[in-house]
Amino acid sequence: MTTVRTRFAPSPTGYMHIGGMRTALFNWLWARHNNGVFVLRVDDTDRQRNVEEALGPILQAFKWLNLDWDEGPEVGGPHGPYFQSERGELYSAAVEKLLAEGKAYRDYDTPEQIQADREAAQKEKRPYINIRRSLELPEATLKQYEEEGRPAVVRFLVPRDQKVEIEDEIRGHVEWDASLISDPVIQRTDGTPLYNFATVVDDAGMKITHVIRAEEHLSNTPTQVLLHQALGNEIPTFAHIPFVTAPGTTKKLSKRDLSKYRTNPNFKKMFDRADQVFPMIGLGSSETLNPVMVEYYEKIGYLPAGVLNSLARTGWSLDDKTEILSLDTVIEHFTLDRVVKNSAALDPDKLFSFQSHWMSELSLEEKIDGCTPYLVNAGIIEETAENVEHGFIGSVILSLGDRLKLFSDILDVAYFFQEDIAYSEKDFNKRVAKEGVPELLTEYSVRIAELDEFTVENLEETLKTLCEEKEVSTGLLIHGLRIAVTGSPVGPGVYDCLLLVGKDKSIERIKAAVNKVVT
Ligand code: GLU
Repeated sequence: MTTVRTRFAPSPTGYMHIGGMRTALFNWLWARHNNGVFVLRVDDTDRQRNVEEALGPILQAFKWLNLDWDEGPEVGGPHGPYFQSERGELYSAAVEKLLAEGKAYRDYDTPEQIQADREAAQKEKRPYINIRRSLELPEATLKQYEEEGRPAVVRFLVPRDQKVEIEDEIRGHVEWDASLISDPVIQRTDGTPLYNFATVVDDAGMKITHVIRAEEHLSNTPTQVLLHQALGNEIPTFAHIPFVTAPGTTKKLSKRDLSKYRTNPNFKKMFDRADQVFPMIGLGSSETLNPVMVEYYEKIGYLPAGVLNSLARTGWSLDDKTEILSLDTVIEHFTLDRVVKNSAALDPDKLFSFQSHWMSELSLEEKIDGCTPYLVNAGIIEETAENVEHGFIGSVILSLGDRLKLFSDILDVAYFFQEDIAYSEKDFNKRVAKEGVPELLTEYSVRIAELDEFTVENLEETLKTLCEEKEVSTGLLIHGLRIAVTGSPVGPGVYDCLLLVGKDKSIERIKAAVNKVVT
C-alpha cells in the first residue's frame, strides 16, 4: 500500500493564519490517521527579502501546537530542498522537458498585446483565451528571437480538446472544459516559476498522495491536473476544504477585515482582551497580534489542546454530538468524508468553552508553569523570585478555581502579588465611599486583628456577626471589603482574598481605604 503523504505549503507571510492552521491540521491529521508522512514546504517563490523572519511565526505556530512535520524546514528529508526558492533547477528541468516535448512554448507576446487581446474579448463579450501567436511564428524568427535573448515567458500548451475531471474527496465529482483554460505562464521572463507549476513539480517530486487545501485553490486544480498529466506524474487525490469564516459572517476570515471584527460581538472580547493583556507584557496590542493569527492564542494564554479542539471542530465532526475531543481521538477518527461541505465559522465562544475544559484538565503544577511567565513579563514578580513565589502562585490559582480560563487571567489578580493596589475609582466610590461602609470596615478590621486563627471560617463568622449586630446586609460589607483589600470588584471569594493578602496587609489596606474616604 502506498504511504499517505500530505503537505502544507505556506507562503512566508510573517504570521500564521488561524484558518490556514486549520488546513494544516487537516493535512497533519490525515497523515497521522494513516501512519503517513506530513511534509511542510515553504512556497517562497516570491522571493521574500527575509524568509527567515517571515517564516519564524509559522514554524512557531506548528511547534506550539505540537504538530510535528516529518519532512521540511529544520528537519530536511529525502525529497528536499523544502524551500521553493532552492528548487530552481528542478523547475527549469521540468520546463525544458515540456518545451522539448512540445507541451510548452516560449511566448513573445508583449504585455501590451495581451492587454489588447483581453480588451477585445471583453468588448465582444467572449471569454478571454490567450492567442497563441508565438506558435505561428516561423522557425527562423523563433531562432532569431532566442539568439537575441528576447524576453519570453514560457506557457504551458493546454490540450484544449479535453475535459478535466477529478473526484474531490470533499466536493465529489468536479469537471472543467479545458477549451476554456488559457495557457498558463509556467516560467516568467526572469526564469522563475509560477505557483501552479512549482506546486505540481513539488507535489510530484515530494510524492504527495493527497492535496488537502483551501477551496480557493479549486480553480487552480484543472491546470495542475493537466500539468501533472503532461509531466507524466501520478495525479494526487484532491480534497478542497471550505474556508474558515469570521464569526457571524459567510466571508472568509481575513486580516483585511480586522477593523470589522473589532465590533463583531463574538470577536470583540478577544480584541479587548488583547488590548488589556498585551501592553502589560510588552507585546503591543490587538493591532500587532490579533485573533486571525495563531500567535495571538499562544501569547494570550490559550492551550494548544483548546485551540486544536476548536480547529478540529471547525469543519469536521466525529458525530453529531461530541464536542470535547483530544487530539488522539481526532487522529483516530479523522476521515475526509466527515469534513463538512459548507464553510465553518471560527466560534470564539466555543473555543473558550474548549479552553475552559482543557484548562480544568491541567495539574496545578502545569497551571503554575503557564501563569508564571505572565507575572514575570508584566514585571509583577521577578524572575529570580520564581521559586519563592511558586507555592503562593499555586495558592492564588487554587483560589481562582475554574475562573482561570486563560493563563493570562492571572494578571487580573495581580493585586495578590503587588505591594500597592490600584482602586477602580468607580467601584471605590460605589462600594467603599458609601454611607456606613467605612465604619463597618474599621470595626471589621479591629475584630479580625483579634482573631487567633486567620481562617475563612473565622473571617466569615466575624463578618456575619458584625452585620447582624449592625443590622445591615452582609453584601454591603463584603463588596466594600473586596474593593478595600484588592482594589477590584472581581476575583476569588472575599475570604480567600483576605487569606492570600495576609492578615497584616489586609488590615493595612482596609485602613488605607477608609482613610482615602475620610480625607
Ligand atoms: N502557497 C499556497 C498558499 O499558501 C499553497 C497552495 C496549495 O496548497 O496548493 O495558498
